[in-house]
Amino acid sequence: MKTEIYTIPIQDAFAEESECPVCRMYQKLEENAINYTIGPGASYMEGDIREQSDEQGFCQKHLEMLYEYPNKLGLAMMLKTHMDKTAKELKKAMKAPLPQAAVLFRKKSQTVHPVITFVEEKEKKCFVCDYINHSFTNYINTIYYLYEKEEDFRKQFAASKGFCVNHYKVLFSGAPEYMGKKYLNEFLMTLNETFINGYERVRDDLEWFICKNDYRYKEQPWKNARDALQRGLVKAGSIMEAEEKKE
Ligand SMILES: [Zn+2]
Ligand SMILES: [Zn+2]
Repeated sequence: MKTEIYTIPIQDAFAEESECPVCRMYQKLEENAINYTIGPGASYMEGDIREQSDEQGFCQKHLEMLYEYPNKLGLAMMLKTHMDKTAKELKKAMKAPLPQAAVLFRKKSQTVHPVITFVEEKEKKCFVCDYINHSFTNYINTIYYLYEKEEDFRKQFAASKGFCVNHYKVLFSGAPEYMGKKYLNEFLMTLNETFINGYERVRDDLEWFICKNDYRYKEQPWKNARDALQRGLVKAGSIMEAEEKKE
């Protein structure tokens, strides 16, 4: 793994002091992936890449992001060939015998129809998600690497505002596989502490936000609660956009 390309974006993300530096990294990767998919490089005009996007399609979130991008013609071309392929595959799947009324199968469950299998498989795939995930794993591994190698990063990590629930789990679950004996325990304990402190801090801010909407607290100071809801969206749902739009 070429660690150097990954260390700087990670240090930048941790320096920004957001409610989840991993969300911040993911967001940058996502911007790059959207740019790669539909931007000026026109990767979608290359045969092997188009074959992939035809097969994988796009998840709801990324289809929406692609639609927001000014290149409507590019998206139309990608969608058209993706829909060609989907229609072809579905027509094949439709040829299988149709499902029977459930009442006939009380004991023996009938096999899942190919139409359902095909659509369910498709729902798991997304060209943009796939592109992001390739680098995302490397970024996560670089966090472990930096933690083991650099005292400064260990301090930065421990002083961070914590993580969203999803990325807390990602960091927690990957550590035993990547990290050596020397720092694993310390890392997991620091991770637990930073996560729960940050999570409960935002929870407390939300509590004060609720109070501040009550007339009895009108004269009290806002403390840190003004943007509590936006920061709650990061912690609970990995949603960064609202945190950026706050005043
Ligand atoms: Zn996150
Ligand atoms: Zn996606």
